[in-house]
Formats: sequence, structure tokens, C-alpha cells
Amino acid sequence: MKFFSSFGFWSKKVEAKGLETKLVFGKAGLRYFVVLMVISLFYLVQNGLGRSDQQLEDAVKTMELYELRLEMNLNDSLNTGQGTAIERERLLMAIETRIVGFLYRIPDYSYISSLETYLKYRPNLLTQFPAAVPLGKGKYSISRDYGFRIHPISKNEKNHVGIDLSAPDGTTVHATASGTIKEVVYSKKGYGTHIIIWHRFGFETLYGHLEKVLVHKGESIAQHQIIGTVGSTGSSTGPHLHYEILKNREKIDPRPSFDLKKKIYDELFFSNSRTEGVE
Ligand SMILES: [Zn+2]
Repeated sequence: MKFFSSFGFWSKKVEAKGLETKLVFGKAGLRYFVVLMVISLFYLVQNGLGRSDQQLEDAVKTMELYELRLEMNLNDSLNTGQGTAIERERLLMAIETRIVGFLYRIPDYSYISSLETYLKYRPNLLTQFPAAVPLGKGKYSISRDYGFRIHPISKNEKNHVGIDLSAPDGTTVHATASGTIKEVVYSKKGYGTHIIIWHRFGFETLYGHLEKVLVHKGESIAQHQIIGTVGSTGSSTGPHLHYEILKNREKIDPRPSFDLKKKIYDELFFSNSRTEGVE
């Protein structure tokens, strides 16, 4: 009613009509307001999401155009010199700027495939966001994947927001990208002893049920650096690493990140040995 009282004329008119009218008007008005809010919220969410998807699709198309130009340029540079080299450097710079913007915006790894060509030209970016397995090759097996699973006995559906890698106690755990230790938590419940790392482009990783922690909060770490060892702390039935990736604060499936760096480096090695002399 504060609103009405600021307009003397209106408040007088409403009061004159009596309390009952005021109440009825208030209720109907509120209902109308709520409905309007819900509709506009729905519209905003729908449209907002649609637009960001469209932006990503557009970005993918632009990247494809860059790829074409770069390929043409690389073919040219086999025959001619200087001019194409400058042009190539210019293209690569433009591509890097695009990749960086793209990496900040993508919601998960499903868009990464459209980046693979460019990551070959800027492979150092693969050290700055999760692109590897946190345990050494041949030292683990995946015991539980990301996503929903129906319990075989209780039939309860439970969402698993990370990947479980079973490995013996004491197996070394490696950071999957460079970053800063955001948190080291010693808990008897849940994740048990766990580490959270901040990476570039809005990525975070979590390493759960650890036995030992070899880093401290605020420390800068390199990709593949040993940060702790596998254990069975917290709610865990046997030694394993529970590994999570967060992108822009949402938990996402880490599986596509596991062989990302290896895949691109392998391709890089292959294309380098195939076209010697061309970067
Ligand atoms: Zn788990």
C-alpha cells in the first residue's frame, strides 16, 4: 500500500470504495502479476538459451572458415615464401583469440571436436584445461562412469557426477591441467580427503577419497604434477579415485577429456612426420 499512498488521489479513491474492493483488486492484481512473471521468465530462459546455442553454432562455423583458409595458406607456403608466412601468423593469432573465447563459453566437451584442428596449432592450450587422465597409463580401471545408474538390488536410480577409477592404495594422482589449488578438504564423509583445482576457461577438477595430499591451498601446479595418492577415505568401499570436472560451475562428463591431449599430440606427431618442414 506504500505504492498507493504516494499518489494521494488514488489512495483516496481506493479507500473510498471500501476495504473489500481493495482486497479483491490486490488478489487479482497479484495473480496477474505472478502469471506475467512466469510467462516472461519462461520466455527469457527459452530465448536466452537459444541465443547462446546459436552463438556457439556461429562460432563453430567461423572456425571452419578459418580452418579452410589456414589449409589453403599451408598449401601455398609449400611453394612460396614470405607473404604467406605473415598471412599464416595473422591467421593463427586470430584463431587463438577465437579458441580462447570459445573455450570460455562452451558448456562441456561436446563442442571440443570442432576445436581439434586449431588445438593442433596451439597445443599449449591443452595444458591449461583438463585434457588427460589423473592416473598413470595402465594403473587404473574405470569402475563407474558418469551419469545415472539403476542399483541392481534396490532399483534406486542414482546420479554419479564423476568417474570412478579403481587403483591400488598409494597410486599417484596427477593434476589433469595446470592451475591453482582451490581447496584441500579432510573429511570423514562424502568425498573424504579431497582436492579441488581451479583451471583456466572456467574449469575445475575434484579428486576424491585420497589417502595423501601433497599440495596446499593456493599453490600453483603444473599439468601432470603429482598432487596426492589414491585411498579410500570418506564414503568409499575400496581404494579408488572419484574424479569430477566442473565447467562454469556445472558438473560434466569427464570421459571425453581423457584422451584429448594424447589424441591431438598423436595427430600432431603424425602430420609433422608426414609434412616435414611445415609447422
Ligand atoms: Zn564416484
